[in-house]
Parts: sequence; structure tokens; C-alpha cells
Amino acid sequence: MKLSSRAKKLQPSATLAITAKEKALKSQGAKHTLYNLTQALFEEGDEVIVPAPYWVSYPEQITLAGAEPVILNTKEEEGFKIDPEELRKLITPKTRALILNYPSNPTGATYNEIELRRIVDVAMGAGLTIISDEIYDKIIYDGIKHTPVAALGEEVKKATILVNGVSKTYSMTGWRIGYAAGDKEVINAMGKLQGQSTSNPASISQWAALEAYRGPHDIIEARTREFEKRKNYIVERLNSIPGIKCFSPQGAFYAFPNISGFFGKHHNGKEIRSSMDFTEFLLDEAKVAVVPGDSFGSDDHVRISFATSMENIVKGMDRIEEAVKKLG
Ligand SMILES: *Cc1c(COP(=O)(O)O)cnc(C)c1O
Repeated sequence: MKLSSRAKKLQPSATLAITAKEKALKSQGAKHTLYNLTQALFEEGDEVIVPAPYWVSYPEQITLAGAEPVILNTKEEEGFKIDPEELRKLITPKTRALILNYPSNPTGATYNEIELRRIVDVAMGAGLTIISDEIYDKIIYDGIKHTPVAALGEEVKKATILVNGVSKTYSMTGWRIGYAAGDKEVINAMGKLQGQSTSNPASISQWAALEAYRGPHDIIEARTREFEKRKNYIVERLNSIPGIKCFSPQGAFYAFPNISGFFGKHHNGKEIRSSMDFTEFLLDEAKVAVVPGDSFGSDDHVRISFATSMENIVKGMDRIEEAVKKLG
């Protein structure tokens, strides 16, 4: 994999976080991992393909590295899945990488092995690096099995940098531990960047993460089944509200309802024209906080987290249902 010129120039810090032989690096959360990674790989003149709706930080981090995020739109009616042909069309001689995130934040879409292979084949055919953010790999529904990109074969594994962390699987967001695994030169360059910026993640967090990974893990599966119940409830409630259409997420813990049915309606003399307008309306009228979809690359949607109690979800849904009746 080609390193950015900034990464090539860097000297290791005296307290280098890793040695040149290692194939993994831990950082202050997966967000920091992705930051190190985009800085190590990309620079001015590079293009990186980001499927939309996307997690908010991918385009921004690519831009911070001086490169250009190229947005690959997916369709709600196709389950927000990447169409390999659409991917092929966006690849240019400048394209360096494809970012995959499945199960996805914000849509909850994921891929089975066959679907994943079709996408990966296109990326591999063009010599792209695959950045695979699999931070929701353990939070998956409807009997679907998570297939890691790197499990698709030796060649694919060589072209892939896996990103993961403890924030979602172990609900350890505040401990700030994420990691990357893959090509040792890239990992080494990330280690140098980290060595000159933040050094290592807090040692107490590293010990806590180690304890989490060592298990026991039965609680993870039990929690996922609990999330699945909430997911089924919230999707059913959302779809029963006229004006709302909600895709049933296959993983992660967000519902991403399409609320564009309310565009053009009014409340207190103000017209709802965007996901931000609808978000403000819900906050004022229902006292329910959602996230506007435009920050994820889709202004027709809002994101609702169901990582909260069933009691809160019932209350929140009741309030949303009542509030939208006031739109005229
Ligand atoms: C939460 C999240 C991250 C970052 O998690 P950290 O708390 O920084 O480890 C990265 N990618 C996606 C898709 C996320 O939802």
C-alpha cells in the first residue's frame, strides 16, 4: 500500500507505540484509528470512495488528509447496499481506497458473504485498499452472520485494513480504545503518527479492554437479542406512523427512518424542509432528540438510537406519534 508523503517523512518518536514488525495498533478509539489511517495513506490528489449514508467522520477525515471523498450513494429500496456496478463507475486513476462500514451506522445495512465478494472483487480489480470499519460486527440481527472482509481470502486480507474497537461491542465508548489491523508498513506509519501526537492510549483503558476481550462473552449475545427486540418494536411503530417509512436495520443500534413525507408541512407557521427542520420540530414539540440525516449524507432521514431502555423507547415513540399529528 502506498503511504502518504507526510507518513513517509515521519521519524518515529523515542517512545514508539509499536515496533515495525507489528500488524496492529491500538489508539484512542476507532475514530482516532481512522484518523491515523487516513493521514498515513492519503494526500492531495487522492480520491477515496465513501458509500452514503455514511458515518459522519469519514468524509471529514479524508478531507483533513487533503484527499477528496467521492460519495457512492446507495438506495433505500435496495436496503442501502452498495451496487458493485455503481462502485465501478466511480473508480478513476486517482482512486486509492474504498471505505466499508457494515453493519452500518447510520442505516444498519449489512452484507452476506456473496454480496461482500461482489463489492470486494470490484475494489480488488482496481487495486484499491479496503478500509473495513466493522465496529458493529457483534451487533447483528435476523440470524445474519457477520463476514469479515479479511476472511474472504489471502489476497483480500493483504489489501484490507480492519478497524474495530470496544465502544460498541462492550459499551466502553468512554474508555477510548480502538484498533487497526493489517499491512505492517501502514500500521508502522500509523504508529509513528501516533507516537508524535498522542503516544499510547491510557494504560488503564488498555487493561480494561483486554479484560473485555478475554470474556466471558455470553452477555454480548444476550444484549444483542435485547437490541433486536427494541429494533423490531421501534421499526414497527415508526412504519405505523403515516408519513414515515423505516428500513429494518440488520445490525448496529440505530433506526434511520425516511421522514421526507413531512416535507412541505407546517408547524407554528414554519415549513419543514429538511432533516434539520424535522429534528428541531421533534425537539420542541415531542422533547425527543434525533440526529438529522444530512450529516450522514441523506437529508430525507433522521437517525434514532435504540441503545436506551424499552421504557424510554415506548415513551419516545408515543411522543413522536402525537407530535407529527400537529403538522398540517
Ligand atoms: C462509534 C463509531 C466509531 C468510533 O468509535 P470510537 O468510540 O472512536 O471507538 C467508528 N465508526 C463507526 C461506524 C462508529 O459508529
